[in-house]
Amino acid sequence: MKRRWIILLLFVFFFGIGVYYILPPKIAVLTYHDFVEDTIENNMQIREETFRRQMSFLKKHHYRTLKLKDIDCFLKHKCRLPKKSVLITMDDGWKRELTIAAPILKEYDLDAVIFYVGKNEDGENENFLNKEDLETLQEDYPNIEIASHSYNLHYPEAYLSSKNDITKDIHHMKKIIKKPYYAYPYGKSTKEYRSALKKEGYKLGFTFGPDKEHRKLTIDDNPFLLPRLNFSTDVPMWKFILRLIWLS
Ligand SMILES: [Zn+2]
Repeated sequence: MKRRWIILLLFVFFFGIGVYYILPPKIAVLTYHDFVEDTIENNMQIREETFRRQMSFLKKHHYRTLKLKDIDCFLKHKCRLPKKSVLITMDDGWKRELTIAAPILKEYDLDAVIFYVGKNEDGENENFLNKEDLETLQEDYPNIEIASHSYNLHYPEAYLSSKNDITKDIHHMKKIIKKPYYAYPYGKSTKEYRSALKKEGYKLGFTFGPDKEHRKLTIDDNPFLLPRLNFSTDVPMWKFILRLIWLS
């Protein structure tokens, strides 16, 4: 009797493992914003040391950091991705994404994406990467892709703009960043916004919240409504690991 139970438990255990490996993975799309060397000023910033420990964890535990084209291929059911896959994204193009985050990513040989706001190219706001910074980034950090976060629509209600205005903004942005991947400003979009992106040849559109949409990306997700996880805030390491592993 006892033996029968052991055989049954072993069967359930190995069947579970088999199913786990056959099913496509859920992908954690990590989202960061600004970085600071030491003192945090708001909840969209993370300390250099915290970020370093997080990246070191990914490296040490053999996570594969994806490129945007990997996500595109995965959603088209053309590519298999390892269970331990993550996409690292950094929004807005803060200057410290170049000065603090990029060297750490390079040190650990990890890929990442910056979703850049095009109008900052003029250098008027020195908190953000300008045209020269983008060139430096591309030369010194080929592990970091630059994709679009709109040209001049980075304000909370921008998603309500007319389809015509959104299309004009996309045309501006295409002159700066040619990659067909996009993160909606403030994560917000409408059907018209998504249709404009699609019409302009974009392949992926990433959201950012609200809270219930902070979940992992699945193979069945709409390519123009891809969820991301907020990792912008400085959190203890146990919380980072828990969120990375357990968040559905
Ligand atoms: Zn943003």
